[in-house]
Amino acid sequence: MKRRYLMVCTIALTVALASVSEKHLSDDAQTISKVPTTHKVVALTIDDGPNYKATPEILAVLREKHVRATFFVLGQNVERFPDFLAQEVADGHEIGAHTYSHLSLPKLSPQEISEEFDKAEKAILAIAPKPTLFRPPGGFYNTQVIEIARQRGYTVVLWSIDPKDWSCPPTDRVVEKVLTDIKPGSIILLHDGQYPLPTPKALGIIIDRLRERGYEFVTVSELFQYNEVRHSFSLVNGSF
Ligand SMILES: [Zn+2]
Repeated sequence: MKRRYLMVCTIALTVALASVSEKHLSDDAQTISKVPTTHKVVALTIDDGPNYKATPEILAVLREKHVRATFFVLGQNVERFPDFLAQEVADGHEIGAHTYSHLSLPKLSPQEISEEFDKAEKAILAIAPKPTLFRPPGGFYNTQVIEIARQRGYTVVLWSIDPKDWSCPPTDRVVEKVLTDIKPGSIILLHDGQYPLPTPKALGIIIDRLRERGYEFVTVSELFQYNEVRHSFSLVNGSF
């Protein structure tokens, strides 16, 4: 069991490090990483699932705490575990797209990028409404990725807090990172695409601690409604 745990973590770390060197993560007019607001509202986002073990554990925590989150799902995992996506929808969570197979999009041709969207949408639409939010794998994008996403009706969402739960740190390190960086309007990045992860346990503690500080949890789309600097946004739907 321990060896398997280490192997999963090593693979995740290798993939992540390979990605970091090739492209930027930035906050600009084309993407949204946080929302300017004085209200104590934040969004939990959970990427890469569904997963046979992490997803039901995370859903149980969210249900117990009466919190709704935003799941950026992978089409290939939706095809493997459609019931978990159905449960996310039934529990009132928001569903965003995260491509079909988690390839680094700036390396692909326009046709290959479109295929990633097509296949992901086909899997999601069998169960959930058409998503309006898109998160590129690893946060890596270029103007071509942004343009294709916008043409397909997506707002591109990144994040402002990354406790790197995919690298399997101790639970308290995940909690501490979120509590240290939290601000009104934060978008928190967590994962359910593999197992084991510290995420389900960390999630319950994060929710309790932030509530003690007066924070409320909303979906990403709901968070947009708290924007107090409306002209700085460029959403595809033009709601600002
Ligand atoms: Zn991802």
